[in-house]
Amino acid sequence: MKVPVWNPAVEFIEREALEALQLANLRKTVAWALKAPFYQRKLAEVGLTHPGDLTSLRDLRDLPYTTKDDLRAAYPDGLLAVTLEQALRLHTSSGTTGMPTVVYHSRQDLDCWTELVARCIIAAGATASDVFQNMTGYGMFTGGLGLHYGAERVGMLVIPASCGNTSRQLQLMRSFQTTVVHATPSYLLHLHAALASEGITRDQLALRKAFIGAEPHSEQTRRKIEDLFGIDAYNSYGLSEMNGPGVAFECVHKTGLHLWEDAYILEIIDPDTLRPLPEGQTGEMVMTTLQRRATPLLRYRTRDLSHWVSGNCPCGRTHRRLARIKGRSDDMLIIGGVNVFPSQIEDVLMKIPEVGTNYLIQLEKRGSLDRLIVKTEIYAKLVAGDLHALDDLRERIAESLRAAILIKPAVELHEPGSLPVSDGKAKRVVDLRPAF
Ligand code: ADP
Ligand code: ZN
Repeated sequence: MKVPVWNPAVEFIEREALEALQLANLRKTVAWALKAPFYQRKLAEVGLTHPGDLTSLRDLRDLPYTTKDDLRAAYPDGLLAVTLEQALRLHTSSGTTGMPTVVYHSRQDLDCWTELVARCIIAAGATASDVFQNMTGYGMFTGGLGLHYGAERVGMLVIPASCGNTSRQLQLMRSFQTTVVHATPSYLLHLHAALASEGITRDQLALRKAFIGAEPHSEQTRRKIEDLFGIDAYNSYGLSEMNGPGVAFECVHKTGLHLWEDAYILEIIDPDTLRPLPEGQTGEMVMTTLQRRATPLLRYRTRDLSHWVSGNCPCGRTHRRLARIKGRSDDMLIIGGVNVFPSQIEDVLMKIPEVGTNYLIQLEKRGSLDRLIVKTEIYAKLVAGDLHALDDLRERIAESLRAAILIKPAVELHEPGSLPVSDGKAKRVVDLRPAF
């Protein structure tokens, strides 16, 4: 198979040359960072006043971490490293875990970001002949404009649909014979569930690929999307602090997400001891920008959890790959003393054929005990006949979950379309336990 590629010189660069490039760009980044009040203070604390003091990539480990709280404290412009005249746009994060953070972009920053997204689109096998419908929010959320400019650079026909309005999305897909979409995985599952009520069949659509991201999802969810639509789905990872989409993406081989190492240095650390972890161990992703002028970030603690995938990808790209993101360290639920990630529950649910496209995890306190309730939509027609069959299914789901997470939840079965849906990031967990 011929490997589709956007920028072969960079994507197939030898590791040694890549590391030399990283060091040169790290020095530039530190020089830019020293123009922002926040980093002037922070780097002075560790005695770094000149970028030339960095003699190897290992020296990065002597620099301080930057946290989400630092970004919040520096709001609105403590991290701005260019003049307002040089800044062209700003974006904020979605604010999933609190007050949003802000990132400014210069013209050059926006150009670099667009190039990164174009690389991802081509790596996933899309081309200038595709019709691309972007179903993520335009505006402050980076998924909209980020993918939009990347897709235009590739030369796709772009439909800037933005998020929501499912019936309009389906009409656009049918009228313009959309071949590639970008959406959250939860929204794509919802879109599929809505096909029947809109009187649209899969054959009337021309869809062949989806870029799915912005929220954690399991391999089983990817497969479900692929099977339901009869398409290929590629995992797309990004965060507004690192521009947005375009940080790491799967190529056509789907062997993990290639992280663009000319644009970012990724360290994986133990979030408790802050020590670097050996390859293959899951930990917190810490990222440094290498191309950004207006808001350079050094050793940013993303709180996202993943690990490096070892070995080479058949595509030949030298940029290393990340495993599917497990979630954020603060997504972890402690239920009756047991640590559970929502993604573990999703993984189990999506393996069960009768389980539909939406679910919700609810936590309650019964006396002093935590109670886990898993609500899931089901394909009623797959459950033959009587109430016994429903009881059996409920028991099968509860037992499968117990085997995976060591807690047997109460399982509620719901009609398709009855659980709440979000246009953007899905809200999967409702924690009704009192704080104390
Ligand atoms: P917020 O941090 O407020 O949600 P962003 O819009 O910047 O704002 O979202 C970025 C976050 O979304 C990432 O840090 C990560 O937690 C999550 N995310 C993005 N893409 C993926 C993905 N492919 N898999 C898992 N989580 C993802
Ligand atoms: Zn690859």
